[in-house]
Amino acid sequence: ELEVSLKVVIVGNGAVGKSSMIQRFCKGTYTRDYKKTIGVDFLEREIEIDGEDVRLMLWDTAGQEEFDAITAAYYRGAHACVLAFSATDRDSFDAITSWKLKVENECGEIPTVLVQNKMDLVDQCVIDPDEAERLGRALGCKLLRTSVKEDVGVMSVFRHLASRCLYE
Ligand code: GDP
Ligand code: MG
Repeated sequence: ELEVSLKVVIVGNGAVGKSSMIQRFCKGTYTRDYKKTIGVDFLEREIEIDGEDVRLMLWDTAGQEEFDAITAAYYRGAHACVLAFSATDRDSFDAITSWKLKVENECGEIPTVLVQNKMDLVDQCVIDPDEAERLGRALGCKLLRTSVKEDVGVMSVFRHLASRCLYE
């Protein structure tokens, strides 16, 4: 039986929780002072979608996003994309459109989901819910909300992308 392997890139400003999300999904762990470098290009996990085994390879960056220095190799061959911002970081939300364009320039149109992370910090949220929904619609991306810390919504992000890759 042929196994499906999908490369997923996770982009967004520094400190929005990209590495934590990868760590959470692939290893089931979470740490407050997560190291910027995981030492490998990606972590992987296999999930089942409608009886089909799907291997997801989640590509991390080692902090290059903060210097706008992500190389073409990072994006090469990506099948799907997570656009991540933090509920507590206005700049990270404002940067989403430019992240979407970067991915599009390298990968063309691929299944993409917009993720608002750190939803456990509701009292510090600086993004109006309607505004986030509007951005999702403008970009043609489903908006999902997560707390990587509390392990809320993370599985949905990757199930959504895997399903779209299988069925589109
Ligand atoms: P990256 O730079 O986008 O890879 O972000 P990191 O994964 O390194 O996370 C940056 C900081 O945010 C770390 O201290 C994480 O522990 C923290 N963090 C990540 N996800 C969440 C979350 O859902 N809630 C809260 N409160 N903190 C989070
Ligand atoms: Mg990181």
